[in-house]
Amino acid sequence: MNLSAPKISIDNRRTVAFASQASNVFFHILTQCNLTCRHCYINPEQHGQNMLSADVIDAWLSVFAKKCHEPNVIFLGGEPTLHPHLHRAVRKAQQLGYRSVTVDTNGYLFHDFLTKVSPDVLNYLSFSLDGATALTNDAIRGTGSYEQCVKGILAAVAKGFNTSLIYTVSRMNLHEIELMPALLKKLGISRFFIQVIGLRGNSASASHHCQKHSDPCERLSIDKNEWIERIPAVAKQVAELGIATVYPKVYLDYEEPFYCAGKVARNYFIFPNGRVYQCPLCEDFPLHSYMMNTGTDHHPVLTETERINESDLFNLDIPEGCVMNKLIQPENISYMEDGSPEYKIGCCLLKEEL
Ligand code: SF4
Ligand code: SF4
Repeated sequence: MNLSAPKISIDNRRTVAFASQASNVFFHILTQCNLTCRHCYINPEQHGQNMLSADVIDAWLSVFAKKCHEPNVIFLGGEPTLHPHLHRAVRKAQQLGYRSVTVDTNGYLFHDFLTKVSPDVLNYLSFSLDGATALTNDAIRGTGSYEQCVKGILAAVAKGFNTSLIYTVSRMNLHEIELMPALLKKLGISRFFIQVIGLRGNSASASHHCQKHSDPCERLSIDKNEWIERIPAVAKQVAELGIATVYPKVYLDYEEPFYCAGKVARNYFIFPNGRVYQCPLCEDFPLHSYMMNTGTDHHPVLTETERINESDLFNLDIPEGCVMNKLIQPENISYMEDGSPEYKIGCCLLKEEL
């Protein structure tokens, strides 16, 4: 252990409140990807199969730069580095005054991406790795993906980029989560994001059949006790190494306040077919609250969609907490004898930070 690292108590964790001033733009510029991960949430039927042109990306970035005060942008895909003009989009976001610019990648870094951007225009490069070993990661993300991701991280760190690592916890990789602190330190990662296996895309359908794999998959999500016993302890170990650590606050005690980010925060999840959602759990359904359309002056314009849409769900007040969780995955909730829920499910965008 690094003796100079600060002592982190689990009680030093901070629930990151939804800041009404901060806006986040999650910009999926394409849906194509070179990998076929088991838990992928991309759903071409709902999100489109087109790659936005460089001009359209610039124009849509301008729309959100005007709508929000200094938003953060996270470029996503598919694999965003498959877009030959991603470097131009990164620069455009910086010129438009975005507070921070992040690219989420699977590590393949196509089109020599690292040679076309520099740490002064790109605040974070976030890599997805779902195992501490190639055996586990590659079973989830595909053969050779561990080696390529590690290679990408080392190249980015050597060039002075701030690197993050995203680990999506599932039944397939929970057994290696305790190996992650040492690996993160060895790779020179500066931020660690633990995610819970999604309720969207392949993982949502995993209990019966994956969308991208011909074999039936087992249920991938882990249960409440496993999450509470394992995840906060690993997060604390990582934080003790001086690495900023963020993980979702999945379960809320019954008396804890519940907030739906769709009502109190400004998050925009943009897809290449023009759909703009405020809740990631709604992305498998045509419930988007906005749509990018073309205005009479031929410029893009953000238009509210007709009701009923996701915003109607945000306003439902139920004892179980998150309405979408109750609709999509009711088995996540247990009830007491009198019929009241034992705990609430927090908003998937609510995080604990160490
Ligand atoms: S999870 Fe990411 S890297 Fe994996 S298939 Fe989906 S878009 Fe590609
Ligand atoms: S995950 Fe649940 S609580 Fe969060 S924005 Fe969506 S509906 Fe609201």
